Amino acid sequence: MAVTLDPQLLDILACPAPDHAPLTPGTPEDPEADALTCTSCGRVYEVRDGIPVLLLDEAVIADESASSDVPPDAEKSTSDGA
Ligand SMILES: [Zn+2]
Repeated sequence: MAVTLDPQLLDILACPAPDHAPLTPGTPEDPEADALTCTSCGRVYEVRDGIPVLLLDEAVIADESASSDVPPDAEKSTSDGA
């Protein structure tokens, strides 16, 4: 189920990290996820009962190693277990 936040609310929400960047619904891996993702640092904030949990302590760094210049799906053939 996708996040159904008020667009105006989403507009005023910002990442609690120093970048204070806008947030986008969902996660990079799952746009339908109940979460908000920072457009700058890539931290993912869970949405609980429709309330975004904008706490650095609760944030999930989506994929630190992939947040650099490497495209997300570039040669992903390591440790997949398949
Ligand atoms: Zn951020």
